[in-house]
Amino acid sequence: MTSKRKQGIGTRLAHGGRNTKAQFGAVNPPVVRASTFLFDSYDDFVSRKARDRHRGEYAYGRIGTQTSAALEGLMAELEGAVDCFSVSSGLAAITGTLLSLLRAGDHLLMADSVYEPTRAFGAGMLTSLGIEVEFYDPLIGAGIEALIRPNTRAIYLETPGSLTFEVQDLPAIAAVARRHEVITLVDNTWASPLGLKPLSLGIDISLHAGTKHIVGHSDAMLGLICVNERTVKAVRAGLFRLGYCAGTEELYLGLRGLRSLEVRLQRSTASALEVARWLAERPEVAEVRYPPLPGDRAHALWKRDFTGACGLFGVVLAKPYSQRALAAMFEGYELFGIGASWGGYESLATPTFPERLRTAVPWNAPGPALRYAIGLEDPADLIADLAAGFDRLAAAEATAA
Ligand SMILES: *Cc1c(COP(=O)(O)O)cnc(C)c1O
Repeated sequence: MTSKRKQGIGTRLAHGGRNTKAQFGAVNPPVVRASTFLFDSYDDFVSRKARDRHRGEYAYGRIGTQTSAALEGLMAELEGAVDCFSVSSGLAAITGTLLSLLRAGDHLLMADSVYEPTRAFGAGMLTSLGIEVEFYDPLIGAGIEALIRPNTRAIYLETPGSLTFEVQDLPAIAAVARRHEVITLVDNTWASPLGLKPLSLGIDISLHAGTKHIVGHSDAMLGLICVNERTVKAVRAGLFRLGYCAGTEELYLGLRGLRSLEVRLQRSTASALEVARWLAERPEVAEVRYPPLPGDRAHALWKRDFTGACGLFGVVLAKPYSQRALAAMFEGYELFGIGASWGGYESLATPTFPERLRTAVPWNAPGPALRYAIGLEDPADLIADLAAGFDRLAAAEATAA
């Protein structure tokens, strides 16, 4: 980068993470297939720990290659992080980071709205390792101070909650955490580094399921961990001991996905707003939970802290429906697939059942909770698909009665 001027995000996504000269003129960095790197000398080998993959110095495949350094360097730059580490999945990013930071006897505060496997890891495996895991109201804000104990080591956040879309007050929670020397981690998968920069708001670690928007085409698993100065040493050492890393093909797909991330997010967010507005007017719908939507209960907080969004939102139906009627609605969709994950080019729909998960704050809703991931299709076609789904829902409910 020659100019001092801060370049726009599209430019940084197009030009970051590559060095054409070092790639023999190729536009893209290579998919480096390497476990072993050979050293020039005995001394070189003995001093290999000093090698820095961001300076083109590699020591062993698990620690870094040209492919991983390209993706990790660009992600760190986007997040304003000191470094980024890539691992085999989003969940591995979460578990590897928590295992790197926590010891038996520590207390961990975890938002009640987190991704279900994150909750299961906290309540199950961390608890069995002697870590006290306490779930808290995601809307607690500065009130989290009352939950801090002498042994509180970390606060885990997810914003918005990827099933129920509560936006957390990151600066307020980060300020409390700093006063008490507690580490904060946030799952930033929904907004991506383009829509939210948690480290600039005082959070220590930003985690991503790269599987979602970053890979962006539903064809690879990837996790990314962006750390600040305060946490880089512990996380690097922990991941090294655990042996976590990512496959080279997946790293390449993550880097390729980043190139088009801005345009994909712009398109899916614009379409999601259109679809969400239409859904909000439907008599079957009690509430659309989508922070970018004016009128959403989290809209003001979203507007204050975020610069972007994605196409994922929740819908709460206005009354209970039989599972059979819901199945008729879901199974007849022509464009919305029934499937976990999101962030691909294709739209998805799933039921979410938050009432089965919550322990800190009960989930009260007049009807079932659903989640829609809006892809890159034309929004008018998606709306037609949803409208036909509501017709099937009503028809199935009428024949049951
Ligand atoms: C999918 C997801 C994860 C886990 O990512 P995987 O790559 O599937 O392991 C973590 N957090 C959120 C919010 C997710 O949606």
